Order: sequence, then C-alpha cells, then structure tokens
Amino acid sequence: MPHLYEGPLRNGPIAVELYNTLYADRGRIIDGLRSERSRAAWLKRLSGLVPAAGPDSPAREDMVELRGAVRRGFDALVGGRLPPRDAVETINRFSVRAPRAPIATWHPSGPPRRGEYVPANRSDRALAALAADAIDTLTGPTRDLLRACGAPGCVLMFVEHRPRRHWCSNACGNRARQARHYRRLAEQRRGGGRSTD
Ligand SMILES: [Zn+2]
Repeated sequence: MPHLYEGPLRNGPIAVELYNTLYADRGRIIDGLRSERSRAAWLKRLSGLVPAAGPDSPAREDMVELRGAVRRGFDALVGGRLPPRDAVETINRFSVRAPRAPIATWHPSGPPRRGEYVPANRSDRALAALAADAIDTLTGPTRDLLRACGAPGCVLMFVEHRPRRHWCSNACGNRARQARHYRRLAEQRRGGGRSTD
C-alpha cells in the first residue's frame, strides 16, 4: 500500500511547501522528509507541480540540502533581513541543474512550433523546479507576502493572499483565537482576584 504523506500541505507555492516539510505536531518538530517513504509520499502529493514521481526522483539528501537553503532564505525575509549569500548560492546551484533552451519543432503540416529543450533527468528537473520557485519567491512580488504562521506552536509559512490573514490554515486560526480567548479569561480572573482583595 502506498505511504500517505502525514505532514501539512497548504496549496502554497512549492518552495513554501518544501519549507513546511519541517512541521510541529503536539509540540514536537517533525521532519516530513525524514525517511525515503515520507519523502516519496510528499513528492507524490505534489506530482502535478513537481516533475518527480517515479524511479529517478530526487535524492533525500539533495532535497534536505535545498530545503535548508530555502529555510534560511525565507526565515531571513520574514525576519526583515537579507537572505544569506550561501543560501542564495545553494538555491542557484539547484536551479541550474535543469537549464532550458528554446527549440523549434518541425511539423509536416504547418510552421515550426516553439518547444523547449531541457537536457536534465527528472531528479534534476524536480530540484530545479523547487529552486526556481524559491527564486521567484525571493525576488518577485510574493516576497512581501511571505508570512510565518502566528498560531501558537505552528512553525509553518504561508503566502498572505488575503489581507490580514495571520494563519497558515483555518485550523491554526481557530487555535489562535481559542488561545486568545483563554488568555483573556485568565487575565479577567486575575484582575477579578485583585479587585476583591
Ligand atoms: Zn499554522
């Protein structure tokens, strides 16, 4: 039976999903790429976006190295700092594993059509696709919309497509509101205690 990916997926850009393969579960940090099975399950869930399902999908060590660079880069952005140079260089190194060149493809019944030549295997294509998405996030308009989830205990990132959304998911939003509610109740109780002293 195929292994199902147990970690969170938020329909975010694939580089943000890669960032989110380190996630928290009941206060414990879990690595969604910790095993070959889990890594393969993650790639399978993203198979429409990352060209990677199959025998020559990217090695776990490569994915973990790229994730480390993506995390350093994204953490810096969200913290208002410049991404570290080594993180940017690592992302670039993965991106150029699958260079592309335009080619004209010949057709017997019409003019040539524009095609693309990518002299790379599927593993390198997948890593390059993840790296390219990280580059788009670091350099494009998404850069200003990248957020760390504000819910207690959550370590995920998301893209704030809706203004004033502070959480990576509805579940995190509910948890944050609940935590705020209990905090207020506790403060009221403490305040009430003092007033009757
Ligand atoms: Zn969250």
